[in-house]
Amino acid sequence: MKNRMMRMPEKGRLVEVEEEMPQIKDHQVLVKMEYCGICGSDMHFFQNGAIGTRKAPPDFILGHESAGTVVELGKAVKKLQIGDRVALEPGIPCGTCEFCRKGMYNLCPEVRFMAAAMPPTDGALRQYMAYPEDWCFKLPENVSTLEGCMMEPLAVGMYAAKRGEVELGKTVCIIGVGTIGFMTMLAVKAMGAGKIIVSDALPNRLEMAGKMGADVTINAKEEDVEARILEETAGCGCDVVFEAAGSPYTLAATWKYVKRGGVIVNVGNAGGEVPYMFGELARKEADIRHVWRYRHIYPAAIEAVSRGVIPLKDIAPRIFPFAKSQEAFEFAFAKRNEVLKTVIRIFE
Ligand SMILES: [Zn+2]
Ligand SMILES: [Zn+2]
Repeated sequence: MKNRMMRMPEKGRLVEVEEEMPQIKDHQVLVKMEYCGICGSDMHFFQNGAIGTRKAPPDFILGHESAGTVVELGKAVKKLQIGDRVALEPGIPCGTCEFCRKGMYNLCPEVRFMAAAMPPTDGALRQYMAYPEDWCFKLPENVSTLEGCMMEPLAVGMYAAKRGEVELGKTVCIIGVGTIGFMTMLAVKAMGAGKIIVSDALPNRLEMAGKMGADVTINAKEEDVEARILEETAGCGCDVVFEAAGSPYTLAATWKYVKRGGVIVNVGNAGGEVPYMFGELARKEADIRHVWRYRHIYPAAIEAVSRGVIPLKDIAPRIFPFAKSQEAFEFAFAKRNEVLKTVIRIFE
């Protein structure tokens, strides 16, 4: 048997190649991959061959949102069995550095993250993958493998909600409801947030957000976001503000939306320099917190989906077959403003 994968010999071009099957190590399982989602970072590599200064390595394999079925066990594997369906957490940290020992493994400088350029690590867009048992999370019967591949962006949203200390009744606003803003919205809703206000420049996104949990939707192109947020919060601002648009302009404006003593969560990770009114923020004694991927979230994300607290099914991604991965990427890029998630089905 051979393994097949999609490699990117140059930007904008994916080529299906055949290689030897991976050999599993003692603590690894062999996963027959079923679904691989396309993330914003994959699209950057596909479109520009780089993210900022980080170039895609030669013949890169994209994809880090994946799930599949265990088909072979390494000698030392204890928890998983053949036939288990699993979601793969894409980052494998070193396990021994200061940050790993503190449990902050998302900050491990040696982490090998699927489809990341530093250090160059191939992604999940392939038929079979050898992966450590510890980073494969078993999906319960009522959670599909398709939902399994969406645990990754959901983990980002859930971790952002955790960083923001969202709790029962807190007023929340989410600036930007692309995939990450959307997942953040589902997470804060599940955590019992009070009024949920979202803003975006795209009406179709606002409409979908309104259907799936937002109480107030603001079209940032047509309305004054600050005025609307203040109006909706009796002039106080929101307890928690999520910047999920990834734009320096929206990030720079977050101090206007936050309540005194509130929290701003930067989950959009805008690049470049951002001019910020720290003086105004200081007067409110509000915090800004950042989100770098996530840690210790997969089990809770799977549980939340299994219990129906987070309706991941309703995302209903567009699905392309493996052989049409090229088309899937072109579609995902062309329709990035309309379609929340595009996913590749690895096996027919
Ligand atoms: Zn992702
Ligand atoms: Zn480490």
